[in-house]
Amino acid sequence: MIEPLKQQKNYKESIQFIDLKSQLERIRPEIDAAIKRVLDHGVFIMGPEVYELEKELASFCGVKHAISCANGTDALGLGLMAQNVGPGDAIFLPSFTFAATAEVVAWVGATPIFIDSLENTYNMDPQSLEQGIHRAKELGLNPVGIIPVDLFGQPADYDVIQSIAEEHRLWIMADGAQSFGASYRGRKVGNIGHISTTSFFPAKPLGCYGDGGAIFTNDDNLAQIMKSLRVHGQGSDKYDNIRIGMNGRLDTIQAAILLEKLKVFPDELLARQRTANHYNEALKEIVQVPYVLDGATSAWAQYTIRLPKHKDRAKLMAELKEVNIPTMVYYVKPLHQQTAYKHYPTATGGALPVCEALAEKVMSLPMSGYVDKRSQEYINSQISELLK
Ligand SMILES: *Cc1c(COP(=O)(O)O)cnc(C)c1O
Repeated sequence: MIEPLKQQKNYKESIQFIDLKSQLERIRPEIDAAIKRVLDHGVFIMGPEVYELEKELASFCGVKHAISCANGTDALGLGLMAQNVGPGDAIFLPSFTFAATAEVVAWVGATPIFIDSLENTYNMDPQSLEQGIHRAKELGLNPVGIIPVDLFGQPADYDVIQSIAEEHRLWIMADGAQSFGASYRGRKVGNIGHISTTSFFPAKPLGCYGDGGAIFTNDDNLAQIMKSLRVHGQGSDKYDNIRIGMNGRLDTIQAAILLEKLKVFPDELLARQRTANHYNEALKEIVQVPYVLDGATSAWAQYTIRLPKHKDRAKLMAELKEVNIPTMVYYVKPLHQQTAYKHYPTATGGALPVCEALAEKVMSLPMSGYVDKRSQEYINSQISELLK
């Protein structure tokens, strides 16, 4: 019997939403060697790679302290613990974000106040923030801090948020889980706010092969407290506990992997920007393409389009799936409408119209540092065709 010729895998059948496979293929020998080094020296917790990574991250961002930790959620949690946030305190954050941003506020018994998003960048709306601060005071809460989120990879508008923070004596902890590698008016993400955090979850712009995260600050005192909190509130040695902390360390193996990934990261950021440019060119007349602020860059964690009101998103996503183009929706439901969070206050005391509208019409397209030209053209032409 003659077998049919095995077809070579077609690029049209192998488009990944986030192409981690091509990245691994590119750096496989370096990753294998890095993991082997850790297996050989055997210091799996707080090994030399952890400290080396922290040095590299700090220099990459131009910030004084980079503190690695177990994941992006713990990074936020450690920041709140270091700022002594507790019951009666109000923390302001966008509703249109991943649950972790609000979750950590609830962990420490404080009250998240949900803020609406801007129509253009989808990041925190400064006017809504002011309204939220007013609202918190009306509710008898003590406003203490703001957690702007750099949604989809683009920094929030920190100059404007900073001036509101100063007026009300609030600190800023920037949730840069999606924006590591991006910049805002000459500053890298990580060097913004009193504290910045990021995540190295595999699908983030800089991801490891498991969970990981980091906290950044220029404040020596906060850095020292967060390092202590990360290891059960340790004092001068391991069995000296001077505060209540947690186990929030990054594994040495993940640090070793990140050191290798960091080497190709600048190149990947350029590739992500090129992919975003291609999408922009092809799609700007038919959908709302991402808007990046003057003086800012995005790390393009997601390339997110917004469909016109009359377009059926579910139908479009199903049609794209038919032609092997994966898409995702971030986020189907803003946090102030989620079961776990809907009892917390919003800036308006009710609906947050912009983020509610966004949740219905946004969708994200394949994005990574490895979208090849043919796939890119194929995706562009399919979307243009389907949205005609
Ligand atoms: C991914 C993410 C987090 C949490 O990071 P983990 O490493 O998954 O804990 C926090 N905030 C935002 C905005 C995120 O996208």
